Amino acid sequence: MNSRRDFLQKITASAIAFSVFPRYGLAENPELYDGPVLRVAIMGLGSYGSRVAEAMQFCKKAKLVGLISGTPSKVKDWQQKYNIPEKNCYNYENFDKIKDNPDIDAVYVITPNALHRPQVIRVAQAGKHAICEKPMAVNAKEAQEMIDACKKANVKLLVGYRMHFEPHTLEVIRMRKAGELGKILFFQGLCGFKIGDPTQWRLNKQLAGGGSLMDIGIYALNGARYMVGEDPIWVTAEETKTDHVKFKEGVDETIQFQLGFPSGAVASCLSTYNMNNLDKFFLNGEKGFAELQPSTGYGPIKGRTNKGELNQPVVVHQTLQMEEMSAIILEGKQPVVPVNGEEALKDLKVMDAIYEAAKTGKRIPLVL
Ligand code: NDP
Repeated sequence: MNSRRDFLQKITASAIAFSVFPRYGLAENPELYDGPVLRVAIMGLGSYGSRVAEAMQFCKKAKLVGLISGTPSKVKDWQQKYNIPEKNCYNYENFDKIKDNPDIDAVYVITPNALHRPQVIRVAQAGKHAICEKPMAVNAKEAQEMIDACKKANVKLLVGYRMHFEPHTLEVIRMRKAGELGKILFFQGLCGFKIGDPTQWRLNKQLAGGGSLMDIGIYALNGARYMVGEDPIWVTAEETKTDHVKFKEGVDETIQFQLGFPSGAVASCLSTYNMNNLDKFFLNGEKGFAELQPSTGYGPIKGRTNKGELNQPVVVHQTLQMEEMSAIILEGKQPVVPVNGEEALKDLKVMDAIYEAAKTGKRIPLVL
């Protein structure tokens, strides 16, 4: 804790943790907890890595104990802030040595998308569990290679699908499973934001693997699957590009895609790097509807159904995610919606098909 402001922030977050988390198995009193703790190293000390590290301070089942980074100045700052010993700090050249470090259980890879595959494979080969940010890879072939490497090394592979633990999201899933919405007919997912700096890695195909679909449209696609509760059997898609300088070949600006499900339900989704205020899910069934808006931002998530407002607790997504991932890895807990490599592979198969559909104008059949 560096300042009074940090102190106050910590107190506020603790208050939220104490009031909200017990229902979700989180820290009632972290100091008294003596169960299993997942000791995590974060790879990639960027914007999202920073958010995860902050949130992990309030976990009881997970602890930040190591760093992997290409920027020595960040390592120094983080070491001080999170009290990380020198022996748990690595760079991208030497992190294979983590296999000789018994004090680290898992590595959370939070680097640009195209780096996930080689980095996760090296983490697996070092005998550590891998948690990887979304998109897990930049295509289905790479995703399969990552799954195979983790299986071979006998380590777990989880993906940072934080919405799979979010209480409003889980309540809609519960209602759908309980039949309260009736037969599901339609899902709409709108995900996007207006992207800034044209030089960032998100607009570089080599590092991003694509454009808005890889980064933000994946929420609509993944959401379609967990909201409808089925895997799609076909996809159609259309791409629109208004700025060919900023969004070069292979970096999609806006994609609309449609999914068809075995039950006959359909989904209509929009993924874009060119519109703000776009964060909405709508699920329609024969007996009712559910709407989340915002649906996938950092929160608070808000929702309503035909029965009224959803009043689930507001949580820090990354704290809850890391608590649950610790339980999945160390205690064999089964999440309501999977967060493993196979779940991510399905998304990547659909994304491959969306790109193909947008390119060819054809409806692409899917077998997930
Ligand atoms: P940032 O650019 O903020 O951070 C990425 C970090 O990766 C860098 O700071 C750097 O850390 C490291 N890095 C290693 N190699 C490179 C390279 N060649 N170019 C740039 N950075 C490099 O990105 P984000 O944190 O926003 O995104 C990282 C990942 O997290 C992405 O896969 C993204 O999709 C995902 N994400 C997930 C979110 C979620 O809600 N689940 C939200 C935001 C992002 P260092 O200097 O320490 O090496």
